[in-house]
Amino acid sequence: MPCTFIRLAGCPLRCNYCDTTQAIPTDSGSWMDIDAIIEDVRQRARPLVLVTGGEPLAQRNCGELLSRLLGLGIEVQLETSGAYSVAAVPDGVHRIVDVKTPDSGEVARNQLDNMQRLGAGDEIKFVICSRSDYEWSRDFIRNHRLGEGAVVLLSAAWNEISSSDLCAWMLEDALPARLQLQLHKVIWGAEASGV
Ligand code: SF4
Repeated sequence: MPCTFIRLAGCPLRCNYCDTTQAIPTDSGSWMDIDAIIEDVRQRARPLVLVTGGEPLAQRNCGELLSRLLGLGIEVQLETSGAYSVAAVPDGVHRIVDVKTPDSGEVARNQLDNMQRLGAGDEIKFVICSRSDYEWSRDFIRNHRLGEGAVVLLSAAWNEISSSDLCAWMLEDALPARLQLQLHKVIWGAEASGV
């Protein structure tokens, strides 16, 4: 779906597979105030806007930005690492929350309280780097009874495992989850940025 992508600068995590390292420094990108962002999104007239990072919830004014975006009357999504609570995210925002796996190197950052806060319309995402990462994620999904509310997504870390292997494992376990492809890499190539 045509989407306006807002990438907020800065992230305190250092995932091994990070493909947006350009967004990690807090001084990356360019300064825009919320009025300018809202006007930019309005002029693009797309039906969907996604706020991501970096880690968007690391920015103090993210909640205000999300509230203002909801006021445009379009679908608003937030994509977050799962290292921050989503409790203060305004109602109406569709939340996409990572669960960091052991191979990410950031598993200790998971705010597990988030699992109880997510429901229909939200998504829980695992990036899988290995068979052991998959088994950890499968057990996590079962132990937390995921798949009954928020949609669960599994994605193969680029150049780590193949999507076909991941697909086979999910089928074998009849996992209540969807396989996610990194469509922008399929369409434009792994090195393209800003697409
Ligand atoms: S949370 Fe996202 S932006 Fe931050 S290091 Fe991990 S993958 Fe990169």
